[in-house]
Amino acid sequence: MSLNNAVLPGGPGPEELVPSRYALRVGEIDALVVSDGVLPLPTKTLATNADPAALAAWLDDNYLPRDVIDWALNVVVVRSGDRTVLIDAGVGTEYPGFPRAGQLGSRLDAAGIDLASVTDVVLTHMHMDHVGGLLVDGVKEQLRPDLRIHVAAAEVKFWEAPDFSRVSMPPGFPDALRATAKRFAEEYRSHLRLFDDEYEVAPGVVVHRTGGHTPGHSVIRLASGGDRLMFAGDAVFAVGFEHPDWFNGFEHDPEEAARVRVRLLRELAETGEQLVATHLPFPSVGRVAVDGDAFRWVAAFWDY
Ligand SMILES: [Zn+2]
Repeated sequence: MSLNNAVLPGGPGPEELVPSRYALRVGEIDALVVSDGVLPLPTKTLATNADPAALAAWLDDNYLPRDVIDWALNVVVVRSGDRTVLIDAGVGTEYPGFPRAGQLGSRLDAAGIDLASVTDVVLTHMHMDHVGGLLVDGVKEQLRPDLRIHVAAAEVKFWEAPDFSRVSMPPGFPDALRATAKRFAEEYRSHLRLFDDEYEVAPGVVVHRTGGHTPGHSVIRLASGGDRLMFAGDAVFAVGFEHPDWFNGFEHDPEEAARVRVRLLRELAETGEQLVATHLPFPSVGRVAVDGDAFRWVAAFWDY
């Protein structure tokens, strides 16, 4: 440990003990997973339809506390051709209950990535932990005037009159999510580039709408030179490999979200491509294997 690290234990900025970024290449495409921090959430949000004893057993098996666990919050920066693409933007400072998240700005700085170099933003969906980073004071001013923000048309439409009847979120969240999505749509309306089902944002970088978690939820597929990686957004959570049928409390259509999860996990197991997802433990780079009736997460060996 250096003296600087000792002075700033785990604090934000270039002297952090853990750099909270992980770089990899997919053929000719550069990808950088950046942690925005962690979100402490009640464990029952991970499995709203599960037998509480089954959830407790899963938590015990994973050496996790039974009441509240820290969800990772991962963002990805992709460079392909002449485009620099930011996939999601973290939670920002929209919600006071998440003091350890909203670190994307300082971590991009530490990685030497200037917000003004970002040509495109792709949003998996418009929940506040994915768009909030764009609403932090001073961020919009640093972004390029010609920035394009790609989001599914169905997502923007959904948030005009969002349906929260099927979710099971902690108190306060529906109002915060509504308010953040509304503010985002208002502030960035002129930057939005809507797609219906899929759109190639940069060479080999394709955003593809899945629905489920939200009606416009989308995944991003990277493909170059025979290599493939999927950023699955909120289609899969840490419990979702062993229990793909467990509903997450943030899913607006839980049955459809579970169908999407199983479809994507099957595809990932078949292709053997890499998976990164928003809320899998950082750096969340791994692969998927079939395991009986369910799946198994196979963490990638670090390259360093
Ligand atoms: Zn999320």
